Amino acid sequence: MIESLFQRFVFLFILLIFSLVLCEVGVAKDAMIKRSQYLMGTLVFVTGIAPDDATARQAVDAGLKEIRRLEELLSTWIPESELSRVNAAAGQHAVKVSAETLNLLDHSLEMDRLTGGSFNIALGPAVVAWNVSEKGRVPTQRELDAVYSLIDLSQLQLDRHTRTVSLARPGMQIDVGGIGKGFAADLAAEVMETSGATAGVIAISGDIKTFGRMPDGQKFVFGIQHPRKEQGHVLATIELENEAVSTAGDYQRYFEQDGIRYHHILDPKTLHPARLAQSVTVIASRGVIADGLDTGIFVMGPKKGMALIERLPEVEGVIVDAQGNVFVSSGVKGRLQFQ
Ligand code: AMP
Ligand code: MG
Repeated sequence: MIESLFQRFVFLFILLIFSLVLCEVGVAKDAMIKRSQYLMGTLVFVTGIAPDDATARQAVDAGLKEIRRLEELLSTWIPESELSRVNAAAGQHAVKVSAETLNLLDHSLEMDRLTGGSFNIALGPAVVAWNVSEKGRVPTQRELDAVYSLIDLSQLQLDRHTRTVSLARPGMQIDVGGIGKGFAADLAAEVMETSGATAGVIAISGDIKTFGRMPDGQKFVFGIQHPRKEQGHVLATIELENEAVSTAGDYQRYFEQDGIRYHHILDPKTLHPARLAQSVTVIASRGVIADGLDTGIFVMGPKKGMALIERLPEVEGVIVDAQGNVFVSSGVKGRLQFQ
């Protein structure tokens, strides 16, 4: 009896040592692959972590491929994309779209509701009038008045049964620039996990989605760009685990005319650049939520925006107002490291 207990103890001890060694080997073997590619009009950085090199590489490739696939569905810079076809058919007929496109449009309508109309994907004609992504020019009030009636989301119809989308008025244009990158980052993370990655980061410009942890067990650390300092100068850092983070800032795309900064985030009420914030960072479990909200909250400004963040479960944020004051939501106060 005593002998068999002793044997069992020795066996368990050996098992423990064996599993610790295995664990060590596992940690040492975890591979991390990083790749970048120009997609969705910006540099995309994808990091994949997996038990071996080949799996990590495969997962990163799958993530990048997924982003390219979504770009081909959603980009209004690609004439054959589903959304370009919806825009081209405005005022004429409905267009059949993929489940992904319909899903993104659904999320966009939800963002419109949450932000009380501050997030509006029907802004396309106004975005074109300002042309901020290219050279940028201040449109005349007459030009903005002419497109005002087209910025009307109630004229976007989704038929979930037939999976068709239509825009009621000719000239209407959907623009998912304010939410599409976060959406794509989520789907890329999903395919990377399916491909065997245990952890990863997908960074599409300022829209970042993470899953899992670093090979050494540490969480991923993200730096929030200071809106008025040179690129790389961070305001604060935060650790992320299975979270997404998105920043909308007036420093990301803008031009100056007569000493005034005209940037790319427009207030749907005035069709002029929103003026209440310098930057808005949103942290949420999903990229599509973080990305949609950062743009909408930028327009709402710090007071209404922070009230919305506090109301929403699992959503946190950091808002820098027009004067440079920093507001932090209650759930991230202890998580932020100010520099
Ligand atoms: P983000 O960098 O996520 O803030 O997205 C900015 C992009 O969203 C712009 O370049 C426009 O294409 C689009 N956009 C601008 N203003 C709005 C708005 N109020 N609602 C929805 N999309 C917008
Ligand atoms: Mg956004």
